Amino acid sequence: MANWDQFREGMSRTADMAARKAGEVGDAVKLRYKLHRARAELRDTYEKIGRLTYDQLHFHHDRALEINNLLPEVGRLRDQIRRLNNVIKGDENAVYCSNCGTQLTPEMDYCPGCGKPQPRPATAETTDTVAADEV
Ligand SMILES: [Zn+2]
Repeated sequence: MANWDQFREGMSRTADMAARKAGEVGDAVKLRYKLHRARAELRDTYEKIGRLTYDQLHFHHDRALEINNLLPEVGRLRDQIRRLNNVIKGDENAVYCSNCGTQLTPEMDYCPGCGKPQPRPATAETTDTVAADEV
């Protein structure tokens, strides 16, 4: 019954492929959901910064520390959004302009989409400043 075995084998391969395809679709939906959440969080964070800035400029309350504390969150979310975009577009190592989203190659000093100067590809060096110690 070679034909029957081949038929069964073919069917289970088809089922495997369907399951894998469904898994991929599920992953894509999860990624898009994560991206959606990260963008919403980033908007919320910008809004908080905006309210604090308004409060400071309009009512002269000192909100500098609170604003400063939100900045790492903005950086983290922007990083997360960039990484999710890269994964969704299928290239985890691709670099995109932080201003307009145009894909960049390492030798580009300026974004061809918007003209924004591009930082050199990150090496091991850290760009963190030690603001906390400046008290
Ligand atoms: Zn750009």
